[in-house]
Amino acid sequence: MVGAYKITSNSWEYTGDGHSLAYDAGAALMDMEFVQFHPTGMIWPPSVRGILVTEGVRGEGGVLRNRNGERFMFKDIPPLYANQTADSEEEGWRYTQGDKDAKRPPELLTRDHVARCIRREVREGRGSPHGGVFLDIAWINEKIANAAEHIKKKLPSMYHQFKQLADIDITREPMEVGPTTHYMMGGVRVDADSQMSDVPGLFAAGECAAGLHGANRLGGNSLSDLLVFGQRAGEYAANFAKEHSLCNVDNGELKSTETRALQPFERKNSENPYAVQHKLQDVMQDLVGIVRQEQEMLQALDRIRELKTASERVSVEGNREYNAGWHTALDLYHLLTVSEIVTRAALERKESRGAHFRDDFSEKNNQFGAFNIVVRKGADGSMQFSREPIPPMRLDLQQIIEEMK
Ligand SMILES: Cc1cc2nc3c(=O)[nH]c(=O)nc-3n(C[C@H](O)[C@H](O)[C@H](O)COP(=O)(O)OP(=O)(O)OC[C@H]3O[C@@H](n4cnc5c(N)ncnc54)[C@H](O)[C@@H]3O)c2cc1C
Repeated sequence: MVGAYKITSNSWEYTGDGHSLAYDAGAALMDMEFVQFHPTGMIWPPSVRGILVTEGVRGEGGVLRNRNGERFMFKDIPPLYANQTADSEEEGWRYTQGDKDAKRPPELLTRDHVARCIRREVREGRGSPHGGVFLDIAWINEKIANAAEHIKKKLPSMYHQFKQLADIDITREPMEVGPTTHYMMGGVRVDADSQMSDVPGLFAAGECAAGLHGANRLGGNSLSDLLVFGQRAGEYAANFAKEHSLCNVDNGELKSTETRALQPFERKNSENPYAVQHKLQDVMQDLVGIVRQEQEMLQALDRIRELKTASERVSVEGNREYNAGWHTALDLYHLLTVSEIVTRAALERKESRGAHFRDDFSEKNNQFGAFNIVVRKGADGSMQFSREPIPPMRLDLQQIIEEMK
């Protein structure tokens, strides 16, 4: 799904097929407003824009600076995290070197917060030459002997990534980085044990399922999600298959799907599928991005409507064997469906929470914490949104959360 955004850490490959196929089949989707932006993607040269720069760089002591050389993350520490955040640059450095008594530097605050701080620096004119900020690990030359070897040993893939793709030696000079769309918290609503959706026999796990990561996934948790819940989904799906016979496939439906899929070959010199996708990416990045507000999202809905019409006119050339243009033409339906759902869900959530931040409702609102926003496809094809209460959390779990505050 994040392929509907312009700057993404996974290129254009996530096109929301899982979400949109399940939605069309009648499954409920939940939490679709929660799209995670990773704070550090490469921003230069343009061909590598968005490629992820791992949190490991900041974990090893890398710091974020604006064009004036200021470590701006110290300026904006959310009160909730103040007790867990280093009071000084020196304490932050000790944390990265394994000092258990030190608190973490503000560069390691949550992804959404760091992404918003970077956006603010850029918007207020303190960004780097190509529209990001500087991530500097080379500065540790001041702290340790043989820093270059140390960096190459701890961050080999980052060293090679920047050397090969941007001709930057990160042991000597800072990287230019900026926020990149990274992960979709929303997805198919499933039963937590069986992973079955509202549609009997339709199972979902991983990034196209919802619920496990709440409003913002913590780094590293996706892989454990896949292992645990992928295994459950597989097990329950296999049992379901054993207990049920095959359903009948509607041949008329198959034929009309085939006809629709092949139509772009029949149209001549009409809309270009890549152009439609690029326009959609601009819309989502600019109007439903890291910081959202009502007027912009309403504009986004208008643009998505126009792009839907354009997507129905796209034409492609060539044949059916590996044809990226045709694949993009087929992706557009999913990208547009999911983009509209994200935008409508984001309009519905009139507060800021996790990865969803609204300029016009910048605080968390407890009332909104009591429900999920759920969407289903209505009988007339319209998107029907509802607010569905979140069951109260078990007392022992509530206590753990209180203790961790
Ligand atoms: C750069 C990057 C770094 C990350 N690093 C970490 C990390 O360190 N730790 C962590 O926990 N998480 C990380 N994540 C997140 C994690 O990798 C993903 O959330 C996870 O891999 C998603 O797995 P999945 O199986 O749910 O989906 P996917 O891996 O996207 O699998 C979906 C599959 O469905 C196929 N497919 C799509 N459409 C169709 C269709 N129409 N028909 C048939 N097949 C289709 C696709 O080809 C794909 O094989 C990272 C993500 C990115 C982008």
